[in-house]
Order: sequence, then structure tokens, then C-alpha cells
Amino acid sequence: MNPTTDRNQQLFDRARALIPGGVNSPVRAFRAVGGTPRFVQRAQGAYFWDANGARYIDYIGSWGPMILGHGHPRVLEAVQRAVMEGFSYGAPTEREIELAEEIAKHLPSVEMVRLVSSGTEAAMSAIRLARGATGRSRIVKFEGCYHGHADALLVKAGSGLATFGHPTSAGVPPEVVQHTMVLEYNNIAQIEEAFATHGKEIACIIIEPIAGNMNFVRASVPFMKRCRELCTQHGALLVLDEVMTGFRVALGSAQSVYAKSLPGFQPDLTVLGKVIGGGMPLAAFGGPRAIMERLAPLGPVYQAGTLSGNPVATACGLATLKEIADPAFFPALAQKTRTLVDGLKGAAAEAGIPFAADCEGGMFGFFLLPELPRNYPSVMQSDSPRFGRLFHGLLDRGVYIAPALYEAGFVSAAHSEDDIAQTVQAAREVFKTLG
Ligand code: PMP
Repeated sequence: MNPTTDRNQQLFDRARALIPGGVNSPVRAFRAVGGTPRFVQRAQGAYFWDANGARYIDYIGSWGPMILGHGHPRVLEAVQRAVMEGFSYGAPTEREIELAEEIAKHLPSVEMVRLVSSGTEAAMSAIRLARGATGRSRIVKFEGCYHGHADALLVKAGSGLATFGHPTSAGVPPEVVQHTMVLEYNNIAQIEEAFATHGKEIACIIIEPIAGNMNFVRASVPFMKRCRELCTQHGALLVLDEVMTGFRVALGSAQSVYAKSLPGFQPDLTVLGKVIGGGMPLAAFGGPRAIMERLAPLGPVYQAGTLSGNPVATACGLATLKEIADPAFFPALAQKTRTLVDGLKGAAAEAGIPFAADCEGGMFGFFLLPELPRNYPSVMQSDSPRFGRLFHGLLDRGVYIAPALYEAGFVSAAHSEDDIAQTVQAAREVFKTLG
């Protein structure tokens, strides 16, 4: 598009003068795929419109929260009513209890809930609680999983189990990550070795049950089973980071999906965000009473927030959770997501493009690889230049997927069969050009 009339470009130029990289969260900058980020003017249902007035079918949905699509009438009404009653009080409200009740109702592992404002805060606080509750320092995370940008979690694997991880960000001193062990996702032998060597020092394992930050990689059932067993045997806590999967892959979240194969499966702590706020800044962590009551003001583990349990955000989250609790909601969403994934697979096969895809509930992922990867090193083998061409081909055809290989996709209740069919048709056209 002509730079003198491209309003996205004009806004990007203006943004870059004031905001580092022109964006307030890095992946929005299109660094991996090149080109000009689309500045959103408004959104409705399954679509958003950019600053040039172009419409896109939205498969990001604010990176997960918009499970009902944009501007759902009942959510909008709840938010409007809440806004009229005040933006923030710094004193408790009934709606916080209602939201906590709604979360606990669907997650048997959660007896008590603490609300916060971002997934980063929720994961960071859950880890502090796990350390406080166990009196231990070490934590285990897995390569390719993201748990927000708290210092101790910005770490990649060292050269072996015996070595400490390395910070993945400047500004994180090595000492700060010295208690974080980074292991390979789905590698049972490594986690067994870690517990055999350091079992008494490990406060928790934190894991994305379906890792949405390396696109879409499931923890295998045997791996999840072993994580659960090792935590129980060694007195460590299993922390499921369900910021992305919570109320997105199923009403009972990913833990309910694992409980189907592993009867009685429950994490000790669950970290939530995204869908529970319906697009407002809201996140949470929860677990059994005995652990959660270690938090201030009852216990010694400090945690707080000026905007925690914000009355507008809780209204939005509550209205969203009420909609998705309809028993017909998730089967319909899952079916739609499955239709999209199968359609994309078919289109890629017609064009002879290596393609593997998976989905659960309203979350999906695909790779330009012949098989689904099981861990981060195999995700890294995906064809990045080809992905960039696929991304831009779809974008030109009005389909907005994540502008990076390592991100999952999201379908909402607002996506119609026609939207899905249009998306598959767009992909069919683009795949033919990728050869
Ligand atoms: N955990 C997971 C699994 C996430 O996907 C994210 C964000 N994408 C976070 C934590 C951090 O959440 P936030 O961006 O709200 O801080």
C-alpha cells in the first residue's frame, strides 16, 4: 500500500517515535514476519477493522480472552453497568466473590482464589506461594513454556541438568535465575533425574499443560502423570499454568482434559488469566485452602494489588464465564475449531505442503512440519520463511493469525461456518503459492 495513504504505516511511524518498537508488547510488532502491524480501529464479533478500514477474521482474539468474540451483547451490558457504578474502589466487592465462586465451581482443584491483574502476576505469585508453602527455593520449568515476564521465569536451559539456566533477558542477573531449573518438555527421563538429584529442594513444577507459547504442544499423558507423581512423592507442588488453556480448551480447563485419561488428576495450584477476564486485565491463581491461606493477610506469603479484583474487569469476566458455562457452548466451539483445523490440513495436503495441526476446545496450532512436535527443539525446526509468506498471504486475504510461529490460535463463538470456510479457502490459495 502507498505509504502516504497507509494509515497503519503512519500510525506505526508515530508510535515508534514514542513507544519502543511502536508496541506495548513485543509480538505485536511483526518482527518475525516483517511488514507493518495493523492498528486496530474497532472489533465486533469475529472481526476487527484496521486503521485503513480493512476487515480481518480474527484468530488471535486478544491472544485468547475473546472466547465469545468481540462486543458480546451481554458482556457489553455487564461492563457498561459496572462502569456506571465506579471504576475501582480499593475495597472488596460482591462480584469478586461471585467470580471466585464461578472459577471454583468448574475447577475441582480450586478451593480458594486470589484475583490479580495479569498472567505474569498470577504465575509469579503462585510460585512465591509454592516456595512459601514448601519452604524450598528451587523451581522447575520447561523449555518453550512461558509464564509471564517475572525475572525468575525468564530463563533458558543451561548445557545440562547440572548447570543452572541462563537469563533470556538482559536485566535479569544470573543469581536471580539460579533456583530455576529448565528441563525439556515431555522428557520423562530428565524430570526423573531432576527429582532424583534435587527432589528435597524443589518447591514446584510449573507447566503449561498444553503449551501455547510454542504454538500448540501437548504435554503427553505419561509425562503429566509422572510430573504429578514426582511432585507428590517429593513434597513439591504441581502448578498448572492455565493462563491460556483455562476456560479455553474446556469448561474444566486443561486439567479436566487430563483427568479424562488420569482419573482424579489435579494440580496443586492453577494459574489463570485471559478468558476469566473476558478481555479486561484480570488473572487469578487458586488451589486448596490449606495452601491458599498461607497468603497475606492470613499467612506469611505477601501478595497484593491496587487494581486486583477490579469491579469492571470482574463484571466482564463473570459475564463471559456465565456464557461459556452453557453445556452446549464448548462442544460447538470445539467442533468449529476442528472444522478449521481439518480444513487447513486438507488445503495443505492438496498443495503438498508439510503441515501438522492440533486443537482442543477453542485453541489450535499448526506447524509447517510433517509431524506434530513434542518439545521446543522440534518446534524450532518449523519453516520460518515459509510461515512469513503464509502469514502475509492470509493477511492480504483478510485473515489475521498470530504473526509468529510460536503462537497458538483461537476460535471464538462468534466465528461463523462461513468465516471458517473463507479462511480455509484463503489458506488453499496461499498454500498453492508456497511450493
Ligand atoms: N502464562 C501463560 C501460559 C501465558 O500464555 C501468558 C501470556 N500469554 C502468561 C502467563 C502471562 O500473562 P500476561 O501476558 O497476562 O502477563
